Amino acid sequence: MNTFEKGEKYIMNTYSRYPITLAKGDGMYVYDENGKKYLDFASGIAVNSLGHNHPKLVEAIKEQAQKLIHVSNLYWTQPQCELAEKLVKNGSLDKCFFCNSGAESIEAALKLARRYGQKNGNRQEIITMNHSFHGRTFAAVTATGQPHYNDSFGDMFPHIKYADFNDFESIKATVTDNTVAILIEPVQGEGGIHPAKPEFLKAVRQLCDEKDILLLFDEVQCGVGRLGTLFAYQSFGVVPDTISTAKGIAGGIPCGLMMASEKLADYFKPGDHASTFGGNPLATAAGNVVVDELTNGLLDNVKEQGVYLSEKLNLLKQKHSVVSDVRGFGLMQGMECTVPVAPIVADTIENGLLLIGAGKNVIRFVPSLIVSKADIDKAMNILDKALEKFN
Ligand SMILES: *Cc1c(COP(=O)(O)O)cnc(C)c1O
Repeated sequence: MNTFEKGEKYIMNTYSRYPITLAKGDGMYVYDENGKKYLDFASGIAVNSLGHNHPKLVEAIKEQAQKLIHVSNLYWTQPQCELAEKLVKNGSLDKCFFCNSGAESIEAALKLARRYGQKNGNRQEIITMNHSFHGRTFAAVTATGQPHYNDSFGDMFPHIKYADFNDFESIKATVTDNTVAILIEPVQGEGGIHPAKPEFLKAVRQLCDEKDILLLFDEVQCGVGRLGTLFAYQSFGVVPDTISTAKGIAGGIPCGLMMASEKLADYFKPGDHASTFGGNPLATAAGNVVVDELTNGLLDNVKEQGVYLSEKLNLLKQKHSVVSDVRGFGLMQGMECTVPVAPIVADTIENGLLLIGAGKNVIRFVPSLIVSKADIDKAMNILDKALEKFN
């Protein structure tokens, strides 16, 4: 049996996968087991923030593996405490909780919000946005405002209500005396790359302040540098009460993070929440490299390449009638088409460019943050030829 025959036989059928077995990567490129080379604009779904085989990241992981891979959170470790210090000093939130994935970082925020609600007026209700995506655990998938993710698993997590993204009136109409928190992705990812309007987030912040409601940001995909700021909220001039993030934070080593203001973080006491692997030395050693790179110049590259990518995508929009919209922020861009994008993406993959969709009609561009203009030119060339076939 070859590798993907084995996979089909022994791995649960929860992904529709391409018949490609990837074997190694270097910088912006990955290689399949036959040596075919692909320019990687998927970056493991916005995870490989420093590309593949990044020398500093690899060195830090090697070095840490020789010292300590894991010890549990019954003890302090230097990489975890150092990463927490950097995250706090470079933003406006005061305390970190480390876990292992995006869904867990959402669960942590929801639990903290529920705890706050219980102690402040016995409120339980959490409002989330239509077309959002928050992960696959029961509470996170209930919070996800897209029925096809959560309408076939029986009873879901209670006290979640949905409102419309970028529609302040819809939020106002959904808030009740039982509302304790509002959960928003500053840029909706899986839902089709929809950036929030800054005025919308500002209005929601003000409403939350007036009604003692917590504002929770899901920065799992749009955080950790992807918008050109370390935290997504810094691109909007709004400070939430918590952020949840994961994907790119440790360059590919599983790591999740929930941050909160000091006052809110105090509602968790020892024993209230935990994670065996959360923030382990291997993951946080990697996280330190990612944050150091971002704060030492890489954020400037994201801003510069983000503008360039957006310009190039707009040129393709002018050229191809199949493209109906181009939108996004930094290195998180989307191209909406008038047709399902799966065959377009399949065509670019065939021609050596990994892209992914976001919903049925949107192609998503989430390259590693090290991407260059030459990489973008090359990707746009392959995409241009693919779009040609679908006009
Ligand atoms: C990917 C994603 C999640 C879930 O993260 P996992 O690590 O897969 O659990 C949650 N929210 C957003 C916005 C995401 O993009």
